[in-house]
Amino acid sequence: MKIGALEAGGTKMVLGIFEEDGTELERLTLPTLTPDVTMPKMIDFFTSHSVDALGVGSFGPLDLNPSSPTYGYITSTPKLAWQNYPLLTSLTGGRDIPCAIDTDVNAAIIAEAQQGAAMGCHSAVYITVGTGVGGGVYVNGETVHGLLHPEVGHMLLRPHPNDPNPRGVCPYHDGCLEGLAAGPGLGKRVGCDARDLPDDHPTFDIEAYYLAQMCVNLILTVSPERIILGGGVMQRGILLGKVRSETLRLLNGYVQTPAILEHIDEYIVAPTLFPVSGLIGSYLIGKRALAQK
Ligand code: ADP
Ligand code: ZN
Repeated sequence: MKIGALEAGGTKMVLGIFEEDGTELERLTLPTLTPDVTMPKMIDFFTSHSVDALGVGSFGPLDLNPSSPTYGYITSTPKLAWQNYPLLTSLTGGRDIPCAIDTDVNAAIIAEAQQGAAMGCHSAVYITVGTGVGGGVYVNGETVHGLLHPEVGHMLLRPHPNDPNPRGVCPYHDGCLEGLAAGPGLGKRVGCDARDLPDDHPTFDIEAYYLAQMCVNLILTVSPERIILGGGVMQRGILLGKVRSETLRLLNGYVQTPAILEHIDEYIVAPTLFPVSGLIGSYLIGKRALAQK
């Protein structure tokens, strides 16, 4: 049996063919253009390998309700060509094979929980801080969908007193996490690409303040056993330590557990499967769809 996996991102599509045991046989990366251009290549890849099941982790928002007529559609994305697009059903190319879809970050947390930085945890959160901020939430061994699916990236935050751009850059919200802390918001604050800044630039203290507020909010709502921080911005190595200490400062001793108070370095961590957490998670989603058929 072969399992096809797709990590669908706003800038690139990563496709993989896996054996059931997780051995990766092939990988293809394509730029995310319009569906007219990109979909035929993806359908071709999966049909030419005669996959027996398909798992997808995609950018969203998505319809994740399996009983909805628009299950597996990308819904209200700002990428207009993909708005209301039936991603999952189109990918099978008309073949009746088991398939399932989740958000890209939910795919990542599935992979990290089963094989990576959250192994052994029953609850964990995966956050990517890159061009946007996304969060996958995993509770009692399942990703959380709820009414739609969590949109951790748009939680509202308290501005830092020294932030020159405290409203951020999100077109929907003043002062949301993504608008303030994703790469574009960071760049707007300093007037250049965040990659070009030195480690000791004060903007990383502001960045850590925002990411720590997110961690506090997640700790107080989801109570995860681990928080995993990945994505391009987190490649700035000094950030993780700053986020850990700022999280402890903001919690101010309220949550009395040694896992946080004494072991914060093992509580807020980097992903171990980065940058393929999403692809491996997509394979695991496909494998599960096959098992449930
Ligand atoms: P995407 O979210 O599109 O998948 P990435 O996760 O690679 O992309 O994130 C890209 C963002 O990360 C850019 O805004 C870039 O400025 C920022 N970034 C990448 N590396 C660093 C770094 N070392 N320090 C700060 N920001 C970084
Ligand atoms: Zn927002």
